Amino acid sequence: MKINETELVVIGAGPGGYAAAFYAADLGIKTTLVERFPRLGGVCLNVGCIPSKALLHMSAVIEEVEHMRENGLDFGSPKIDLNKIRNFKDSVIHKMTGGLKQLSALRKVDVIQGTAEFLDEHNLLIQTPDGEKRLVFKYLIIATGSKPIIPPVFDLKSDLIMDSSDALELKDIPDEFLIIGGGIIGLEMGSVYAALGSKVTVIEAMGHIAGGLDKDIGRVIERKLKKSFKAIHTNTRVSSLKVEKNKVKVIYEQDGEAKTAVFDKVLLSVGRKPQSYGFKAEKVNLAIDQRGFIQVNERMQTNLEHIFAIGDVVGNPMLAHKASREGHVAVEAILGKKTIFDNLGIPSVIYTDPEVAWVGLTENEAKQKGIDYKVGSFSWGASGRATAINKKDGLTKILFDPKNERVLGVAIVGVNAGELIAEGGLALEMGAVREDITSTIHAHPTLSETFLEAAENLHGMATHMFMPKRK
Ligand code: FAD
Repeated sequence: MKINETELVVIGAGPGGYAAAFYAADLGIKTTLVERFPRLGGVCLNVGCIPSKALLHMSAVIEEVEHMRENGLDFGSPKIDLNKIRNFKDSVIHKMTGGLKQLSALRKVDVIQGTAEFLDEHNLLIQTPDGEKRLVFKYLIIATGSKPIIPPVFDLKSDLIMDSSDALELKDIPDEFLIIGGGIIGLEMGSVYAALGSKVTVIEAMGHIAGGLDKDIGRVIERKLKKSFKAIHTNTRVSSLKVEKNKVKVIYEQDGEAKTAVFDKVLLSVGRKPQSYGFKAEKVNLAIDQRGFIQVNERMQTNLEHIFAIGDVVGNPMLAHKASREGHVAVEAILGKKTIFDNLGIPSVIYTDPEVAWVGLTENEAKQKGIDYKVGSFSWGASGRATAINKKDGLTKILFDPKNERVLGVAIVGVNAGELIAEGGLALEMGAVREDITSTIHAHPTLSETFLEAAENLHGMATHMFMPKRK
């Protein structure tokens, strides 16, 4: 068997794994990246963030064209060529994953295609398409990601019942389309299919969609999605799925009553589970908690001093940028630096229309934990830019510490909220106070001014909004 030696091995080439491998190589560590699939990029580039955003951009354009009619610009109805859309999405994936291959070569990261498993604490067995390899390492970073949860009751082999990867293939546009799970992935995929003409129904077991957004933020997105989707049922549970005559018969419980409906296709998006199995972790007694997450400390170190773990496999939120940051922390820890994962916020974005984004403390969380806060918010109806582009459905909201007016959290709903949240993230990490924001000149007219005006409004003094003084 061929034996390779390396200083650092990274298992899994998703945004956690490749970011860690590239950073390690940049810092002079001899690095090997092991990925079981021929294409690098993990879930994010192949069947997650990137293809979903390619499709969501298209649905945003369809919505925009529709919207423009109100402004006097009528482009007619879109002609949808599903083959071309699919080809475009696939070309984006190829470009991005091909780019990673080139970047690995340029950085001299040794990439091995194969499935890794532990032999012992310093040896991995790699099953490659050309046979077995043994890899001897000094340090290891596990970045094996996550998989969709498929509850056993829904584990049916049928093309009519899809997970998110199947839905991204966009084989056809079902007429009646059910999405089980109203979380981020469900709402994003629902937005794509609704724009392409599906009648989308969402069934969510909790009392709200999108994982419990602050009420004022959630209201804007819910109002909009209720218009684009056929129905959103909260506090509702699906109890059975049956495939009959090329349709899916669904039984669900709502208000204590069992109801039946028939759909052309169903997307299961009820969450993801860590992929902490399949690499013989038991051989090295790796500590894994009851939910399947590999246990790590703030340096991303497992119970074994030289083995680190990052990304979806170590915990929520399962987000690409969290995985990448953790990758950098692990590499710096390997180099003996004092770095810990101590970020104050991890931005979350829902790429629906309008977008929703938040970072740091939310108002819901502050209430639950009894944290004191004051809010400065600005409704986009008073923003010149939002009005000029006819996108007034928006709100920017900043939570401040009442003692020193330091930023505790930011939430935004509105077009491009996912881009705008970066300023909130920077303000949070830099420990910015209200005055830092109000004394920063924001270009006019931009949506970023809503951040400035939300801060001004903490004292009821937003330039474009009059707030009567309380007596
Ligand atoms: P992954 O990307 O899951 O990569 C893990 C890799 O490890 C895989 O390539 C796998 O093949 C490999 N692997 C596993 N076991 C082995 C083994 N034994 N040997 C070799 N290789 C192995 N996040 C965002 O931040 N923004 C978004 O907009 C976003 N959109 C999403 C949309 C969808 C539809 C989905 C499903 C997810 C989305 N996510 C998004 C989540 C994001 O994709 C994940 O958080 C991210 O990919 C996690 O990165 P990771 O490096 O931890 O693991």
